Order: sequence, then structure tokens, then C-alpha cells
Amino acid sequence: MEPSRPHVVCVPLPAQGHINPMLKLAKLLHHSGFFITFVHTQFNFDRLLQSSGQNSLKGLPDFRFETISDGLPPENQRGIMDLPDLCSAMPIGGLISFRNLIAKFVSSENEDVPPVTCIVSDGVMNFTLKVAQEFNIPEFMLYTPSGCGMLGYINFDELQKRGYFPLKDEKNVCDGYLETEVDWIPAMRGVKLKDLPTFFRTTNSNDTMFNYNRESVNNAMNAKGVILNTFQELEQEVLDAIKMKYPHLYPIGPLSMLHKKNSNSSSNNQLDSIDFNLWKEDVNCMNWLDKKDKGSVVYVNFGSLVIMTTKQLREFAWGLANSKYNFLWVIRPNLVDCGDEVISNDEFMKEIENRGLILGWSPQEKVLSHSCIGGFLTHCGWNSTLESICEGVPLACWPFFAEQQTNCFYACNRWGVGIEIESDVNREQVEGLVKELMKGEKGKEMRNKCLELKRKAEAATSIGGSSYNNYNSLVLKLKFEK
Ligand code: UDP
Repeated sequence: MEPSRPHVVCVPLPAQGHINPMLKLAKLLHHSGFFITFVHTQFNFDRLLQSSGQNSLKGLPDFRFETISDGLPPENQRGIMDLPDLCSAMPIGGLISFRNLIAKFVSSENEDVPPVTCIVSDGVMNFTLKVAQEFNIPEFMLYTPSGCGMLGYINFDELQKRGYFPLKDEKNVCDGYLETEVDWIPAMRGVKLKDLPTFFRTTNSNDTMFNYNRESVNNAMNAKGVILNTFQELEQEVLDAIKMKYPHLYPIGPLSMLHKKNSNSSSNNQLDSIDFNLWKEDVNCMNWLDKKDKGSVVYVNFGSLVIMTTKQLREFAWGLANSKYNFLWVIRPNLVDCGDEVISNDEFMKEIENRGLILGWSPQEKVLSHSCIGGFLTHCGWNSTLESICEGVPLACWPFFAEQQTNCFYACNRWGVGIEIESDVNREQVEGLVKELMKGEKGKEMRNKCLELKRKAEAATSIGGSSYNNYNSLVLKLKFEK
């Protein structure tokens, strides 16, 4: 009898910035011969039916979808404010539901679905590892932040030991305390407390997000291997430091590049058309971009989780307007804490008519690859940062939370591809930095650095490159690990 195909169950954290890299990895693995089950939470699955439509959720006979509960009641919005609830609920409700799913696979006699050989779970979906161990299935973890972000989380234990966590006083966040240099983390020279993942900035020693992230990164040591969406040539020193603790490390990024090369060489259009956007994508913006001059448009997007105040939105709006550059700005329906109508006054609408386009959700990778994009004003989410580097587009960084601060530090101070906007944003600074980004000396230097990194990323993901080789070693491990 022919041996059945290896079957990988992929489980992302139910957030856009985690679903995207997991989907790319799943598509790559499918191309490498794996049978794929991709697991959504029921909440997201229902939402995807609305935003992406039924077709994108049909799947293929050997690329299927399943759902689990995330443990939260349906009325919970699963926004940034609800993250602690999600992190508390998943290890209970998610665990039970995921255990049932794996048990169903194990007991099923469905000949169309081969036995599960491996689980690839998000690095912060801790509970999946428990289930994997119960069923004696090897588990690998895809840790979706940058290497430098992961190194930050790895040092959460040390932050506590050294008394930086919990903060003595909430005022610490504003009083210059965060400027304290952290000189005890290898590969993090020059980093200050303010550049580390933000979840330690609390006076509560039982803080859910601090403990959840600390436990997740420690827990990942029990997986058979840790996969990272980065590449050796970008984060060599950081990856060496991580490898001291996680010897089975697979940096296979940029996943978007590895995936693109792969989909160029395969002709599975049905699989390529699978995309999971939690908001409805507005593709018309590509026509708008086609009419603009090369390098003339600032792309502005703060990802899927940032929530800003109306005042901050207004400062960005007028900073962009006063810079006199064209701009393509994604304002998600829930980007602003009390509605986005704050910028729809007559004067600003005139600016939009002249040189701007505002939309609710963009085909970001396509946008970044368009030749008219000259710079990216971003919150420095890791996917956005890497996608921008892959297209040679320099960054103006306004990190908001989590490891975005660490990404910003590395982008601005190590890789030379970014300039930082103060967290207390004002229109004069936005105007000045946008001008610098688009046409200043520093902007030119950053663009050159970006292009250099883009070439390195191309090499890393080409035959014989570091990520290409790491991916092939990973495939062997996933096929044969017991
Ligand atoms: N994204 C997109 N269209 C948008 C905004 C974001 O396709 O309008 C994608 C983006 O390409 C990236 C992901 O959503 O892959 C956001 O992940 P990131 O890590 O940058 O930020 P997060 O949303 O996790 O804060």
C-alpha cells in the first residue's frame, strides 16, 4: 500500500498579522507535498465569509479548513482591548475545542484525510502543544514576530528578575525611566527599555499580556522546532543569540518572498486565490496608483490592531496634507477610538480630492510593490516592516505596542531603513519626516539600504540561499519527525 501523504495541521493566532504568515507557510508546505488542514476560529471563519466571500473558504480536497472555538462569547469584538480576554479564554475554550478536533482526526476512518503527522502552530497558541503531547504528534511553532522581537520576549523573565517588571509606578512610563539602557541582552546593544516589547510596562505583577507572552516564548522551547519569518542576513546576531536557547531554529523569511517565488513556479490558481482578509479589500486603489508618478505616493497604514485617538488621526491627516505629497491612507473602520468622521471636514476633503485616497483595507503587498510608492508610514508591525523591506520601500515608523517598538529600533538604528515619529505625534513632525522620507538625503540613504536588504532577501530565498535551505531542512523534519 502506498504511504499516505504527510498531513500538517496549521493553527494561527486568530489575528490578521498571524494568519497571513501562517497561510503563506501552509501554501508553501502544500506545494512541498503536504496535505493541509488550516484551522480558523469560528468567529474569524464567520467574519471571513462576510469579508472575503464563500469562495475563498471552499479550500481544495487536500487543503482544507476546520474551525475551533476561541473560548470567547460571540458578542466580544476581539479588538485590541479584548486581547487579554482572548489570551485568558483560549487556553481553556480553545484547548477543549482543539483537542476535540485532533481526536476527530485520530478516530476518523475518512480515507480522503490522511492521519495527522505534524502540527504547526503559532508560537503564542500555547495550548496546542499540550494537545500535541497528549496525542503524541510532533509540533513545530511559527513565531510570527521578528527575531529581535522574539529576543525581547525571551528576556521577559530577566526583566522581572532584574526588577524592571512590574513597574514601581505608572508614572515610570512618562518620566524618562524608559530611557534606561538595557546593556545585558546580547545582540541588543544600544536598546533602551522603551524599545522592548511593551507588555512589561505595567505595575500589575499578574498582568495577563506580560505573563502570556513570557509563557509562550518559554513554552516554545518544548516544540520540536521554532520557525521564524526573518532571514539570517538581516538578523544574524539576534538569531545567534536566540539559537543559544532554541537550537532547532528555522529562519525561513521573508515568507512573502519565498511564497511568491514558489507560486510563480507552480500553477495552482485555486490555491493562490485563497486569501484571508478580515476586512473587505479595496482593489480599486491600484487604478488610482497607476495614474501617479514613480515614487510620488506615501502609503499610510497602521495594520489591523492599532487604535488611535481622534487627535492623533488629525495630526497625521494635516501632517500628510501639509507635506504636499500624494498619499494612500488605509483607515480601518475601527482605527479611531470614536469614529473616523473627525477628518471629513471640508478643508481636509479638498486635500483628499487633490492628492489623497482613503480606503478601509488595501491589498498591501500589491500596493507596496507599485513603483509609485515612495515611502511607508507604518506602525512597524513585523509583516508590514518586512513586506516594505522586500519592496525596497523606506519607513516612517510610529510604533504602537507589542514588539513594534523593537522593530522600529532595529529599522531605524541597525538596518538604516526607517525614521521614527514621536509617540506624541504632531503635524509639524509628520510633515517634516514625510518630506525627508520622500525626497530628503536621509530618505535617499534609507531607500538605498532598503534596496540592499531587498537584494539580500532575494538571495536568501533563492536556490542555495539561507532561508531556502532552512525551509528545505524544515520540510524534511516535518516529514520525518516522530
Ligand atoms: N494588511 C493588508 N491590508 C491592509 C492592512 C494590512 O493586507 O490594509 C496586511 C499586511 O500586509 C500584513 C498584515 O495585514 O501582512 C498586518 O500585519 P502586521 O504584522 O504588519 O501588523 P498587525 O496588524 O499585526 O499589527
